[in-house]
Amino acid sequence: THFGYRDVPVGEKQKLVGEVFSSVASKYDVMNDLMSFGIHRIWKRYFVATAQVKRGDRVLDLAGGTGDIAVLLKNRVGDAGEVVVGDINGDMLRVGRDRLTDRGLVRGLDWVQCNAQALPFPDASFDLVTIAFGLRNVTDKDAALREMNRVLRPGGQARVLEFSQVTADWFRPLYDFHSFNVLPKLGAMIAGDEGSYRYLAESIRKHPPQRELQGMMEAAGFVRSGYRNLSNGIVAIHTGYRA
Ligand code: SAM
Repeated sequence: THFGYRDVPVGEKQKLVGEVFSSVASKYDVMNDLMSFGIHRIWKRYFVATAQVKRGDRVLDLAGGTGDIAVLLKNRVGDAGEVVVGDINGDMLRVGRDRLTDRGLVRGLDWVQCNAQALPFPDASFDLVTIAFGLRNVTDKDAALREMNRVLRPGGQARVLEFSQVTADWFRPLYDFHSFNVLPKLGAMIAGDEGSYRYLAESIRKHPPQRELQGMMEAAGFVRSGYRNLSNGIVAIHTGYRA
């Protein structure tokens, strides 16, 4: 890859998040299917299908993990385009790269271990920056949003796909039961790690809801920011543009 690595201080939360994802890396994909009944695949497809991107574009997928979003993005930018997968966790990147190598899907993908809060890329170097199910794990979200803005070219789009606040009252008890009872038990059974999945459920509840995140994107410098709820607000897609 054309980019160097930059050393960044690792805070306490970052360390915890690191342990969580190292622990779940090998079971990450199957757990996503089980936890969301496979629906995460539909959210991800919709997220990429509605992104502002064209053939030949250069795209950064932050917190890219095992590469789900990157593969979808690669189809959209084509052979002339380039997708950089940035993630702080080497284990997640390794699982992703191995999996995509097995499927013969490595050309035009770059894997860069980096912290979203301090990106090792020059200003205005991407046409699109995405982050899916990643922002809530970042310690300093404002810094990450500012960095996303910085590395975008003027007019370029940032997209955030993240768990958000459920909008329908009737749905909330079901959703809470799933998150705090079913999910940690699934984690214990499948990944042998109940604690990590309890952390995930808690991190979803602590994440800023739709309006607040929109305000944070504006504060980070994005213009024309907006969001769209999917599945009753279980997740939301936020967009903003570099001025
Ligand atoms: N985007 C992938 C997907 O949708 O399947 C992976 C999402 S996974 C739930 C969250 C990812 O965020 C993990 O791979 C984790 O290592 C990464 N992450 C957490 N904190 C980060 C940070 N500060 N900078 C970059 N990546 C980070």
